[in-house]
Amino acid sequence: MLQIKTRILSSLRKNPGNKMTTLQNLQKYLDKIRREDKKINAFLQLRDEEELIEEAKKIDEKISKKSAGKLAGKVIAVKANINVKGLNISCASKTLENYKGTYDASVIKKIKEEDGLIIGITNMDEFACGSSGENSAFGPTRNPINNQLITGGSSSGSAAAVSAGFCDFTLGSDTGGSIRNPASHCGVVGVKPSYGSVSRYGLIDLSMSLDQIGPFAKNVEDAAILLDVIYGKDEYDSISESGKINLKEIEKTPKNLTIGVVNFKIQDKRIQEIVDRKIQEAVKKYKWDVKKINMKYVDLMVETYYPLVYVEFFSGTRKFDGRRYGMKIENSAGVEVLRRILGGSEITKAEHHGRYYNKSLKVRKLVTEEFTKAFKKVDCIIIPTVPKLPHKIGEKITVEEMYSYDTLTIPSNLTGNCSLSIPAGKIQGIPVGMQIICDKFQDTKMLQIARSFEKLS
Ligand code: GLN
Repeated sequence: MLQIKTRILSSLRKNPGNKMTTLQNLQKYLDKIRREDKKINAFLQLRDEEELIEEAKKIDEKISKKSAGKLAGKVIAVKANINVKGLNISCASKTLENYKGTYDASVIKKIKEEDGLIIGITNMDEFACGSSGENSAFGPTRNPINNQLITGGSSSGSAAAVSAGFCDFTLGSDTGGSIRNPASHCGVVGVKPSYGSVSRYGLIDLSMSLDQIGPFAKNVEDAAILLDVIYGKDEYDSISESGKINLKEIEKTPKNLTIGVVNFKIQDKRIQEIVDRKIQEAVKKYKWDVKKINMKYVDLMVETYYPLVYVEFFSGTRKFDGRRYGMKIENSAGVEVLRRILGGSEITKAEHHGRYYNKSLKVRKLVTEEFTKAFKKVDCIIIPTVPKLPHKIGEKITVEEMYSYDTLTIPSNLTGNCSLSIPAGKIQGIPVGMQIICDKFQDTKMLQIARSFEKLS
C-alpha cells in the first residue's frame, strides 16, 4: 500500500500537468505573487498576464496531445542578468533600468524548447555584486522564512521566489556563491554546475572565468530536472563542454562512498554541528566512510577571488559607457559596483605589472591542484554552505564581513568543480545549508549524493 502511494506521489511530482493544468498552476502562482510579493520583493518584472495565459493554454494543448516537452506544466522565473527576449534585463541596476533583452540566452532557448513557462524576472544584487540581496537598485529582497532577514545573494529573488512558493523553479548565476548562499538562507536547493557544463551565452558577466548559471528548486529531483534541460555543449559558448545529467541515476543511493571533510574557519560553530550531524546520520544509515582532508590554501579564498573578480568585472563593464546600452555605469551604479570598477582599474594599471592578478591566478592553480588531489581519495567534500547566519536587512556590516559570507562557496568557482546547497537543518528557525562538492563534471553523482541526504529526513 505504502509502495503504491509513494509511486503515485512520485509520478505526480514528475509531471504536475497530471495533477494541475499549466494554466491552473500559473494562476495559483500569480495569485500568490500578487498577495505576497509586495513584502518579499522577489520579482522585478512579471510578464503580461494575457500573454502568460495564452502560452499556458498552448502548453496544455500540447500536453493533451502528448507532444509536450520535459518542462511542460512548470512555471519558471529568471534572474535579471540572463537575457530573455523582450523582458527587462536590468541586472537590478539603474544602468540598465530600461534595457530589454534582444535575444534569448541559450539556457532560455532550451527551457522554451522544452515548454517551460517563464513567468518573470527576479531581483538580485546589482550586476550580481553582493552576498545579501541588499545591493539591488530596486530595494532588497526579504527572506520569506523571516522577513527581517536578508535572503543572501546575489540571486536573492530567485532563491526567495522558490522559498515563498511563487513558482516551480528559478535560474540564478553563481560566481562566488550567488546560488548556493541564498539557497542556504532561504531553505531551498541551489546548484552551481561544473564550470563549462551550462552555456553562459546570454548571461551578463560578473566574472567570466567564474560565472555559472544554475537552478533553484524545492528539492533535488526538481533541481535535476531543470539542470538536465540546460546542461551540455552549446555552440555559442566556446568553453562549454558536452555532458549529460543522468536522471535515472539520481534516485540510487551510492553503496561505497567516502565523504571528505575539510577544516574551514566557521564563524558560527552551530552551523558546523548541524552539518556534522547530517554526515553522521548518512554514515550510519548507508555505511559510508568519512576522511579528513587537510588543505593549505582554502583560507585564502576570499583574498584570491576578489582581485580576479575586480579585474574581470572592470573589463566586462567597459561596454556600459552610455552609448550602446542604458547609462554610463560610473554615473548610475551603486557603491559596491563602483568599488569593483575602481579596484579593477587600479589593479590593472601598468605600474603594478599584473602583480596582484598574477598572484591570484597562482593561488587559484594551487587550490585547484589541492582539490584534484583530494578527489583521488574521496567522492565528495561536504562542508557548510555559509559560515554564519544571515544578518538583518539594513544592519551595518563591514565590506570584509560581507565578503566573508562566501568563504566556503568560492573554492568551487575557482576550481570549476560542481557544488550544491541543500537544507540541513535550522538554528532558531533560520535555515542552514550544507554544501556538497564533487569533481568537475561529476554533477550527476553530486545530485545522487544530495538526494541520498534528502531521503534521510
Ligand atoms: N558575493 C560574491 C560577490 O559579490 C559572489 C557573487 C556571485 O556569485 N555572483 O562577488
